[in-house]
Amino acid sequence: MLEFPKLMRPHIAIIEDEKDLVELVRYNLRKEGFEVEGFTSGREGFEHLRRHPADLLILDIMLPDDDGLELCRRLRAQERTRSLPVIFLTAKGSEVDRILGLEMGGDDYVTKPFSPRELVARVKAVLRRRDRSEAPPEIIEVGDLRLDGATREVRLRGKSVELTSLEFKLLRFLASQPQRVFSRDRLLDEVWGTDRFVTPRTVDVHIRRLREKIEPEPNRPRYIQTVRGSGYRFATPAADAHEAG
Ligand code: CA
Repeated sequence: MLEFPKLMRPHIAIIEDEKDLVELVRYNLRKEGFEVEGFTSGREGFEHLRRHPADLLILDIMLPDDDGLELCRRLRAQERTRSLPVIFLTAKGSEVDRILGLEMGGDDYVTKPFSPRELVARVKAVLRRRDRSEAPPEIIEVGDLRLDGATREVRLRGKSVELTSLEFKLLRFLASQPQRVFSRDRLLDEVWGTDRFVTPRTVDVHIRRLREKIEPEPNRPRYIQTVRGSGYRFATPAADAHEAG
């Protein structure tokens, strides 16, 4: 597949089944210097984004052929669209609850009817936020453990540890957000994506292998802790000391 050089103008995609609304948003964003691609079908928009990730997606929740939140979840499970910022368009208060119930981080939503000016302001704000907090840090150092995202090297007390690429991905994901609890399903989405046939048990198996490689005492894990009934978290020694005290 051909890769075009990234243009300087931010690319915004909009998926919304109301054609007039797509045109209105397109007109207003273009005026502000954005490139805009509009889709009236969820399926079409999803297929396009998988191949040509945008800088931001404006996504209607109620689409005739799809559910916007479900579509967003599928995009999050894809490597290339994992951190695509999404602004939801919603028509109902009950949808807002569903948006907030998801772990959508720095994203936003706009309630219909909205003014184009408001939406443009939100787009700019989300892009600014994204620019400030891109990607996990390249080097993560916790206790005796050191992860280098660039070289994919892991060291424990200075000694190199051999991890499979999946183990590295899993460890890096957990360690980049210390103390946060992730369910097995969420880890499957984030680390495995949707392409693999895996079950939540798969996560347990990989966590066990990872512990055997990085934990001083695999049966009493210091870093990768089980949170009963919830999932796993990466604990930092300092945070634990704080909790204990
Ligand atoms: Ca709609």
